[in-house]
Amino acid sequence: MSVASPYNPNFIIDNLERCMCFDCYKSFIVGEDLSKGIKLSCPYCKSDNVERVACTTDDRPVDLGCVGITYTKGEENQ
Ligand SMILES: [Zn+2]
Repeated sequence: MSVASPYNPNFIIDNLERCMCFDCYKSFIVGEDLSKGIKLSCPYCKSDNVERVACTTDDRPVDLGCVGITYTKGEENQ
């Protein structure tokens, strides 16, 4: 579930998913809600041979070994 940060409502706190590209074997992270329903492709080689391999959940927010990652929606620097 994504929510606005209590400290800065421009930052969206979301569960994160780590995706692996099975063509170039690099990984990348996407926001769960932000990427829902979107066909993902690798940001490095543009392959669509990617799979979600790990994720955080509302109960376990730090399973990726990182904290404090947020994203903004819409225009930046509003
Ligand atoms: Zn790739």
